[in-house]
Amino acid sequence: MHNTTLTELCTALTNKKISSVELTQHYLARIDAAKSLNAVLHVDEELSMAQAHRADALRAQGNAGSLCGIPLLHKDVFVTRHWRTTAGSRMLAHYISPFDATVVSRLGEGGANMVCLGKTNMDEFAMGSSTENSYFGITRNPWDPQRVPGGSSGGSAAAIAQRLAPAATGTDTGGSIRQPAALCGITGIKSTYGRVSRFGMIAFASSLDQAGPMAASAQDCALLLNAMAGFDDKDATCVERPSEDYTQHLNQPLPNASHAQPLLGLRIGLPKEYFGEGLASNVRSAIETALTQLRHLGAVTIEVSLPKTALSIPVYYLIAPAEASSNLSRFDGVRYGHRAHTYQDLNEMYEQTRAEGFGWEVKRRILVGAYVLSHGYYDAYYLQAQKIRRMIADDFQQAFTQCDVIMGPVTPSTAWKLGEKTTDPVQMYLEDIYTLSTSLAGLPGMSVPCGLSKDNLPIGLQIIGNHFDEARMLQIAHAFQQTTDWHRQTPDGVRS
Ligand code: GLN
Repeated sequence: MHNTTLTELCTALTNKKISSVELTQHYLARIDAAKSLNAVLHVDEELSMAQAHRADALRAQGNAGSLCGIPLLHKDVFVTRHWRTTAGSRMLAHYISPFDATVVSRLGEGGANMVCLGKTNMDEFAMGSSTENSYFGITRNPWDPQRVPGGSSGGSAAAIAQRLAPAATGTDTGGSIRQPAALCGITGIKSTYGRVSRFGMIAFASSLDQAGPMAASAQDCALLLNAMAGFDDKDATCVERPSEDYTQHLNQPLPNASHAQPLLGLRIGLPKEYFGEGLASNVRSAIETALTQLRHLGAVTIEVSLPKTALSIPVYYLIAPAEASSNLSRFDGVRYGHRAHTYQDLNEMYEQTRAEGFGWEVKRRILVGAYVLSHGYYDAYYLQAQKIRRMIADDFQQAFTQCDVIMGPVTPSTAWKLGEKTTDPVQMYLEDIYTLSTSLAGLPGMSVPCGLSKDNLPIGLQIIGNHFDEARMLQIAHAFQQTTDWHRQTPDGVRS
């Protein structure tokens, strides 16, 4: 069952070949057997099974949408009724939300058809690139349990790689869907900022945070994005645009192309800054092989330039902490979550609560954020960073005058060893070099499996589109996946 695509599972449910109860049981058993990965944090078998029974009953009444009864995992940053939502933090270790995030309820078609398998581990408040910053322990990469799965959506990525669910949700502020997807050999897409509602997604950096699907293939992601995307009046930054059917054109060639060459006429921009120093040779050669394949499918490649790429690291690591320091001020021991047991007065209650509730990386970011927003430093750091953010976005628009999509690596290297970068935050931040600028520009970005290193570690190809170009990105990724089988590879070998 776990080697079946999401699309096939939906058909099997519709044709009554399998039931949601059988599917849910199967995946719960897989989750249980893979406990050592620590990809899934909160499991409640009784609740999942009750939801599966209800979904089967709805199907029997003919009352079901396409995803009804598909069991899903949700990153623990999306609030869910019934399941705890911790954001990987001690601060929220016992928190249960009274409502579902919009993404969660949309995937459950209003909540009624939802089957949740549990919540996935993540870096605390989505701050990290390795899922080593969770209060609930590290997550391991199923391809090599001594290595990181990437982060911050490392729990979702590891779970999909190990086929612990047909699909999962993730969030991406500076790469947290694309980077773990690349390091775990799965497909993930972060849509245009504003395409998917942020309501009920615990905020890290509000001008960057965006949710997206993580699954085995582009086709599966398209199916999920159909349900997730769309206007939501509960999120003021959600864009009011008509919904799209991302699956509709997947099997069709691009306009003016043919079935033999489905990407004929597509211009792929290759930013020269993405292929320079610092890119591991095994990642480079996998990307080059993928590009050769895309040329066979009819695409042409053009060199473009994104000259401010190197600045995306300092700019992101000023803006994201600035927004985080403001967003995290709500965790004060009064309104949400943890409160210290011993204190003398109100100030000490705040101090003790936050000292106990937050981990080191979160504290580091709150300090940096408060510093760059403070009187006297605001102009020198925060304002300057905002100006460069605009230039980074302008560079992309300049590049898009020459090409239709941009491609390159997702990460400079394959998955690194657990603990290798935890003592040097800057080394960790450098891993985000190819993903941050897309987020700063609010553009959609995707990771598609495109190879395995000699030591059997996955490599991802990044596809970056212009605003709201998700449909074409998914179409390109699907065409690539029709002629390659990297997305079918699992840590246990190629699937049938
Ligand atoms: N690695 C980046 C960070 O630590 C991005 C995280 C994210 O996208 N949530 O902030």
